[in-house]
Amino acid sequence: MRVLITGGAGFVGSHLAEALLERGDEVCVIDNLSTGSIDNIAHLKGLPRFEYTIDSVSNEPLLAELIDRADTVVHLAAAVGVKLIVEQPVHTIETNVHGTEVVLKLANKKKKLVVIASTSEVYGKSTTVPFSEDADLVLGPTSKHRWAYACSKLIDEFLALAYWKERKLPVIVVRLFNTVGPRQTGQYGMVIPTFVRQALAGQPITVFGDGTQSRSFTYVGDVVWALIALINEPKAVGQVFNIGNGHEITIGDLASKVKAMTASSSNIVPIPYDQAYESGFEDMPRRVPDITKINRLVGYQPTVELDETLERVIEYFRQQ
Ligand code: UDP
Repeated sequence: MRVLITGGAGFVGSHLAEALLERGDEVCVIDNLSTGSIDNIAHLKGLPRFEYTIDSVSNEPLLAELIDRADTVVHLAAAVGVKLIVEQPVHTIETNVHGTEVVLKLANKKKKLVVIASTSEVYGKSTTVPFSEDADLVLGPTSKHRWAYACSKLIDEFLALAYWKERKLPVIVVRLFNTVGPRQTGQYGMVIPTFVRQALAGQPITVFGDGTQSRSFTYVGDVVWALIALINEPKAVGQVFNIGNGHEITIGDLASKVKAMTASSSNIVPIPYDQAYESGFEDMPRRVPDITKINRLVGYQPTVELDETLERVIEYFRQQ
């Protein structure tokens, strides 16, 4: 199989590329390095079944050629990270909506399978945990930029499902729940790389809000396993799947855990949300995936739990 990964020099994309190459697949990556990094794929350069192009998915002639040569497209290129999204809402909306439009339009010409990466952020402020794929979605007002991300990803989901319904383009939508692991950067606000870097540097560990909000973190290797399993399952086409790990932890407890595991002298410091992001920022109190659907279809079960994930991330940052 030949797989085109948009955003393939990003955190998830580079791990996916690695796993596909190990299976014997051919991989082509397109990435504009806006949040991805060439370092993430440096070890893959020169491998016989690997190719990469540094360009944007909005370069339509180029993307058309790359899609033509692929059997499957995994569309991961997107604006990511709450910090980036709040600071650059125009860029977020344009990148996420336009990029997916182009990918679907071009893939449709020869009906290439497309996997669209969505996010658990689409469940928004819903309190009906665990979140299942057909549940209602509860977003905040348009004056709060955070929700632009969820909304842009929802347009992507609607468009993908519309292409399937109306034009029989095979699509699979995946909602990723706080994916973590080595190579993720804290530059765009993600909590685990941020805490680990702070703890190792002896800097304050910044807990936003009161730290009672919780998240369920998924190891990137489990996400990659799920993506490959879905690509290989014809019954996945036309459907939406959560990919996550049901075990949740509060952000306050996460900070303490990181501090203990790194034997850090850092203080854990609370930061009000309006200082961390913007005034009136809304966080979600809990975010837990219901993974029954993907488990039933492809037998997905997370294999790496938070402690092991943190060990791997800490080791990664120590080596940097
Ligand atoms: N967070 C934090 N300190 C940081 C970065 C994030 O307390 O330095 C919190 C953030 O407010 C949220 C949780 O950690 O409640 C997860 O944040 P992240 O940006 O990793 O992902 P999100 O789930 O918000 O998309």
